[in-house]
Amino acid sequence: MITKFFDNGIPSLFFNYDTGAPFSSCTFCEKKLTSETKYAVEKMINQNTVIQSREIVYEYAMCWDCALTLGSDISQESKAAIQQLYIAHGDILMRKLDYLHRTEKYNIDSWLERCSLTGKEIRNCGEFSVSGIIESGNLVYEQTPMVVSGEFMQKLHDVLSEETKKGFEGLRDKITDGSPSVEDLVYGPVPGLF
Ligand SMILES: [Zn+2]
Repeated sequence: MITKFFDNGIPSLFFNYDTGAPFSSCTFCEKKLTSETKYAVEKMINQNTVIQSREIVYEYAMCWDCALTLGSDISQESKAAIQQLYIAHGDILMRKLDYLHRTEKYNIDSWLERCSLTGKEIRNCGEFSVSGIIESGNLVYEQTPMVVSGEFMQKLHDVLSEETKKGFEGLRDKITDGSPSVEDLVYGPVPGLF
């Protein structure tokens, strides 16, 4: 049972790390993000699992127009491959979503405890990505927020076509700090993949 729940505001995890405030513009088209704008935030995080320290490899905000464009830039072949991978891990994802919505655990820590697709505990992951959708100035709990372990990212990397990877290159150039691999851009909630 997936419902749509609006958080009261945006947890600081989804803030712009440099400013300590919510993102003010889209990283890709530079459009201003207002309280009216729907946008996604994604962060790639490196973690030292021994001392539990974390650092952000890169982060970005993507307005919904850019997200839709990204979704249509993915080749049919890659889209099918990604969807199959999601279907193969769909049980874990659906169980997690069902539990969190049924028990109304609308706090970010509960959602980020385990990889959305493998169920692996995030505290044991050396690398993971976190993504969420912001609407009307509030974080939305629905199919996202999502957390994806490095383990699953490798699987995704293996199924994406060269064509799709090339399509992401222009987008990647817009992220100035850190240098995400092109595949990284699809870990976020890309419209058209679910
Ligand atoms: Zn944009």
